[in-house]
Parts: sequence; structure tokens; C-alpha cells
Amino acid sequence: MNIQNYINGKFMPPIANGWLDNYNPANGEVYGQIPNSSKEDVENAYIAAKSAFPTWSQTTLEERSRVLIKISELLEENLQQFAEAESLDNGKPVWLAKAIDIPRAASNFRFFGNAITQFASESHESIGHDAINYTLRQPIGVVGCISPWNLPLYLFTWKIAPALAAGNSVIAKPSEVTPMTAFLLSEICLEAGLPKGVLNIVHGLGTTTGQAIVEHPDIKAISFTGGTATGAHIAKVAAPMFKKLSLELGGKNPNIIFADSDYEDMLETTVRSSFANQGQICLCGSRIFVEVSIYEKFKTDFVKKVKTLRVGHPSEEKTKIGALASKSHLEKVLSYVDIAEQEGGKILCGGKRIGVLGYENGYYMEPTVIEVPSDECRVNQEEIFGPVVTIMPFNNEDEVLQMANKVKYGLSATLWTNDLKRTMRMSNQLQAGIIWVNTWMMRDLRTPFGGIKASGVGREGGFEALRFFTEAKNVCIKY
Ligand code: NDP
Repeated sequence: MNIQNYINGKFMPPIANGWLDNYNPANGEVYGQIPNSSKEDVENAYIAAKSAFPTWSQTTLEERSRVLIKISELLEENLQQFAEAESLDNGKPVWLAKAIDIPRAASNFRFFGNAITQFASESHESIGHDAINYTLRQPIGVVGCISPWNLPLYLFTWKIAPALAAGNSVIAKPSEVTPMTAFLLSEICLEAGLPKGVLNIVHGLGTTTGQAIVEHPDIKAISFTGGTATGAHIAKVAAPMFKKLSLELGGKNPNIIFADSDYEDMLETTVRSSFANQGQICLCGSRIFVEVSIYEKFKTDFVKKVKTLRVGHPSEEKTKIGALASKSHLEKVLSYVDIAEQEGGKILCGGKRIGVLGYENGYYMEPTVIEVPSDECRVNQEEIFGPVVTIMPFNNEDEVLQMANKVKYGLSATLWTNDLKRTMRMSNQLQAGIIWVNTWMMRDLRTPFGGIKASGVGREGGFEALRFFTEAKNVCIKY
């Protein structure tokens, strides 16, 4: 199936650069083509977005809200089609896309459609000076949204929805690895009555299409989710133009397990937080630290459970682990198994590419648990972003805190304990933007979402996202 750019409310082929192949990770075959968009395509999108901005930014909040909620409803109505498309593009199980990815994309539009009606500007009375200040929150103009392949529509809409709600017009680029649901979204936007030019979706490579968005002098804000190295590059390009930047980057998140936790709940959730979406979630707890008194028991029970996870074709209901998103990514993940062995790590289970009957060229890999000799080894420090976790024991709170914080990343951390004082102490000291205690990936869309250190700059979610997509302007009136 071939897809097209969505510019000024129309479907358009690329102007200059031709097309790119789109692969099905479940069988390794090309199943369609996507535009390899150039600077010219981005410029066309910019012209459309610029001319749509004055009207959209002046559209009432009720109307903006109505359109966004309509998009949300249409996504829900087309759940099956979207879930199958997401799975075909990304390799994730259809049931997972149906349970998580697509419903969340619909929630993103509904949430920000509602949130914008509650978003308020602040006012400050300057007592003693006979003056009042009020702060306007004005849309920025044309903004750029760039998203990765792991949760394609989920993360794409997490940016687009608040940007549109706040009154901006948008140029968005999904990952070239997983463009399909973004294309289907453009069809839905037309049906929902989103005015032409308000949202423009341009497909292509990061290094050309993405780069053209980031370099464009009149695209005033960039919201990016992806790898840390790409984020650093984008920051370098955008900073001299003083663009607003929101960067959601990589993670290497600790999952810290104390002996006093609720064991069965912890074990089950830890399997999920390790391998959900083939381990390709920036929030996965990829470094497992276990209190020494339960380490051997945990190791045995965990490995036993992991071995039962069924790797299979994404369309099968019984499949727990589908295909990885691309061949190059599979190769990168596998290379870390070799690195682990060279570093003295012990592969407790998995570690290999596997063939699924009938789909031998698909990008499948066994879920892998590596016991590491030290928290400083590369597999414990570098983001692998696949079905691979490390485990090691710890002796006490201070030691595990030090190990947990001794990475360049700071996205999320999970803590398993029933000790309230320890929970408070550790939550205060863990270096991460998000802490989960006795749970994992429980999301409330009102909360600030994002990381510290090399995991990013800025926060998404709730009013934080609406603040990012608006400029604050203070007006001071003396009376
Ligand atoms: P990349 O950084 O490779 O790509 C992310 C997006 O940026 C893609 O659309 C990509 O296009 C585009 N891109 C690449 N180069 C440029 C450039 N020079 N200028 C502009 N855009 C560019 O990340 P991945 O797609 O590999 O995603 C995986 C990463 O995302 C992991 O590190 C993961 O941790 C992180 N992530 C972070 C999350 C968070 O919230 N903190 C959530 C989810 C993932 P293309 O793919 O077409 O090359």
C-alpha cells in the first residue's frame, strides 16, 4: 500500500525525491511505499500551515474542542483498522495495538479537546502599585512535531493534539519506519472537518524531512521524541534560531525490588515492564535490581515466567512478543547480547534471533535476561530498547540508589516496597522525571511527563503541554 503526504487538506506525492520502501517486520518484506519528502515538500507544508494559522488560532475553544473530540471518536470507530495497520507497520501484536496504542491515541485527542476548555491564563494584582498583570497564553504559530517508531500513533498524537488544541498549525513527521497510522489519521482529520492546512503530515527520512522541519527558520517550536543522539543534534540546529524545544529522549530505567514488596504482583508487573511492546518502550524497566535476600528466588521465578512468553506472529492472539520494528534495530539489540558475554554477563534465557514458522525472515528475538557482574557494564549503562533486561542483586538502600542514579539517563524509575518511609526517601532521591511505586506505566494524562539528564528537556502532558505550545505574554495595567 502506498501512502502520500497530507498537505493543505490534500493528499500529495513527494515533489522531488521519489519514494521509500516500507517493510513489514513480521515477514521482512516490502509491503508499500512512502514519500521520501524533501525540503520543497516541507516548504509547501509550511505555506499551508502559515495561511491556516490566523483563522485556526482565532477559532473558538468550543469549536477546536469539538473537532478534536470528533477525531477521537472516529479513531475509536476505526479501532480495528488502525490496530491492524499499526501492527503491520511496527510488528507489535494486534491485540496490544487494539488495547493500548489506538485507544490512547483517541484519548490524547479527547483529553486535549477537553483540557483546552479548562486552560486559563494567570493574573497577578500588584498590591500597593495600583496595577494588575494578566498573562496571555497565545499560540506560537507553525510548530513541528517529530515522533519515533515504537508507539507510532500514540506518541504522534500526544504532540499533535495539544499543539492543535492550543491554536497552532502543525507540520508533523512520523518515523519513516512506521508511517501508516499517521497517514490513516490524515483521512480521519478530513472527515472530522479539521480545516485544511491546520495539520500537515510529511513523510520521509529523519535526516532529510525531519532535518528540513528543524532547520526551517519560521517553524518556531519543535516537539521531538526519539533517541538522545538525535535530540542533541536537533538542539544544536534549533538553538541558534531560539526555537522552543521539547525533547523526550532515551531511558535506562531502574526497576528496584525490595524483599518487602507484594511478590506476585511485583513479579507479574516486572515481566510486563521488561518486555511489553518487545521492550521497545522508553519507560521499560530495563535494569532490574533485587534485594539480595530474595535474589535467587526472584531470578528462578522471573526466568521461568519469561521463558513462557510466546514469541509469534503479531496477528495471533496468543503472541506475547511480536517482531522488532526493523532489521537494523534487531541487529543492534542482538549486538548487545555479544557485548554482554564479552563483559562477563550470563545469559539466563533468550539471547537469539528466532524464526517464526512461515515468517522466517521476520525480525523476531527471544526475550532475554542477562545477569550482569557490575552495574557499570555497557549493557547496564546503554539504552538497548529491545526485549533485553539485566538483573543483579543489591545489599541496601544506599547502594541501590547509587547504582540506579549512576547512568546518564533519568526518565523513569520503578520501586517495589511496602515501606512508606523508604518510598518517600527514595522517591526524593532517585534521579528521574517519573517514579512509579508498586506499579508501572500507570498514566494519568494530567501529570507532567518527561525526563531529566540525557532523557530530555521539558515536560509533556496536561497543562504542561499546553504551556509548551503557547507563548506567555504578560500585560501590566496601572489603574
Ligand atoms: P530516532 O531519534 O532515530 O528518531 C526519532 C524521530 O526523529 C524519527 O521520526 C526520525 O525519523 C526523526 N529524525 C532522525 N534524525 C533526525 C534529524 N536529523 N532531524 C529531525 N528528525 C530526525 O529515534 P527512534 O525512532 O529510533 O526511536 C527510539 C528512541 O526514542 C529511543 O531512544 C527511545 O528511548 C526514544 N523514546 C523516548 C520516549 C520519551 O518519551 N522519552 C518515548 C519513546 C521513545 P526516521 O525514523 O524517519 O529516521
